[in-house]
This record gives sequence, structure tokens and C-alpha cells, in this order.
Amino acid sequence: MKPPCICCCSDKIECVGTIQPVVSFAGRFLDKPLAGGELFRCRDCGVAFRHPHPGKSVLDELYRQGNSNNWQTAHSDRQDWQIAGRWIEQYLKPESAILDVGCFDGGFLKTIALTHRRFGIEIHEAAGKKAQEHGIQIIGKDFEDMAGVDETFDAVTSFDVIEHSQNPLEFLRHMAALTNNEGIVILSSGNSEALSWRFMGARYWYCTIGEHLSFICPTWCAWAGNQLGLELKQVITFCHVKPSWKQRVGDLVKNLFYKISPRGFAALRQKGMGGDEFRAHKEMLSHPPSWMSAKDHFICIFKKMR
Ligand SMILES: [Zn+2]
Repeated sequence: MKPPCICCCSDKIECVGTIQPVVSFAGRFLDKPLAGGELFRCRDCGVAFRHPHPGKSVLDELYRQGNSNNWQTAHSDRQDWQIAGRWIEQYLKPESAILDVGCFDGGFLKTIALTHRRFGIEIHEAAGKKAQEHGIQIIGKDFEDMAGVDETFDAVTSFDVIEHSQNPLEFLRHMAALTNNEGIVILSSGNSEALSWRFMGARYWYCTIGEHLSFICPTWCAWAGNQLGLELKQVITFCHVKPSWKQRVGDLVKNLFYKISPRGFAALRQKGMGGDEFRAHKEMLSHPPSWMSAKDHFICIFKKMR
């Protein structure tokens, strides 16, 4: 049975297809794979989501058991960080308060001017400590701690975190509640409207990642902004890597082949293509190839209206 939309409760829900079983979670291979669920897309608000998925207590335990080395320090030349840095310069005064939700070791906050007061929410203790060493004040662990924060900020940012939430509208609502009037909210995530994703449907690499539960897009951001008193000012699509032509062609060919013949693709993997981990974890044989060279992420900025 089709579930109602997780954001707008509409019943105009389309089933995109079945997501492959979850073989690993937070950097650890699972003893027993989890069902991947189905990918649904809402025709009213534009959100896409995995359903069903494990409940919060199971997810919390899976994160707890995860490999703490899974979340690597990102390169400071991340495109979304550079764009966000420019927006902060453009919209904020030099001594503003900025909160980064899921700040990890402070990677993004370290790239912005030291005149700003910098705050973070981070679940990984060791990463949070590293952030503190750089003068970043950690004010919460889980992104659900946003609900308990009393202060407000001139900017609230979050990079590649919202897809881990069960309800992206609630996530953005909390970000908005922590933002001063006329302050800004900056959000980045995978773009479920990207051409590569539309082409591959539920067999797109991004939704095969077990930690990813909900998938937003620019259409959803415009809708959600309207609900929450946030004016969507700008959207920029980007790719997390700077791909060579060879990589672009390679990714396209692999995904095309997989789309036409998932079994043929799995057979090549069984023969050793892609490395030994596919043979060691049988369910991975049927997983889609990644498409890292696709322009399948986006970053957007909202201004909180009075
Ligand atoms: Zn909806």
C-alpha cells in the first residue's frame, strides 16, 4: 500500500521502484542485509523518500555500531562550502553568529572569516572535539537537539545531512526556528530532480546508501520555504568531484549498461569487475554503480521573512 507523503500528507504518491537491499550502514558491513524498501515520490510537494525503513531505535543502534572512520574530513575546496562562504559574505555582517548542523570537525566553519561567531551540532564526539579546538562551540549532538536550542543565529547551515532525516520538512522547520528574522538558511543535499537520478529511478546510487531516507530537490525547497516563512533566494546545482571526461564517460556507460541489464552487470562483477568486495557480499552484486561525476547535488539559500 502507498504511504501518504512524509511532508505534505498528500496521497498523490508515485512508486518509483524498489531500492536494493542495504548491505552496509555507516561504514560497516551488516551481518544480515536490510530490505531497501521502495522509493516514492510526491507529486504535490516534490519530496522523494524510502519506505518502509527501520525505525529510529534501530537506526540509532546502526549509527552507534558504525565505523567512526566512515566520515572522513572533507577537502576544504568543496564546491558547496565555497558557495555558502560567498553567500555568508554577501548577506551577513562580519560579526554574525553561524550554526552548522552536522558540522563534523568544523570543516566548513573553519573556511569562513574568524570575525564570525561559530557554533556547531555534531554527533561524532571525536569530530566535535576537533571542531572545538578550532574555536567552534558545540551546542548539541544529534540534529534532533535543534529543538532544544534556545539561542538564535544569523545563519543556520547544513551540508549533506537532511537526507539522513526521516522528515526533511521538520528538519528545515527546526533550522528556520533557530534563524533570526532576515537571517539565512543554507542547505545542501542530493538533488532527486537531477537528470541522472530521473534516468536511473530507484536504482540510483544515492538512494542505495542505507543511511539516506529522504530526498529533496529544488521544487521541494520552494514548496517547503512557503510553508515555513522562508524565501528561496537561489539554487545552484553542482557535482562533488571535478570529473575528467574519462570519468564522465565511464560512469555514463556503466549506469547505462546496468540499467539495460542489471544481471549482465552483476555477472561481470561476479567475474571480478569492481573488486573483491562484490563477491564477498553477494547482495552488492545487484547494486547500481556509483555516478560520482553526475551533477546530482544542489545547494540553496533561504532568507527568513519577518
Ligand atoms: Zn508531498
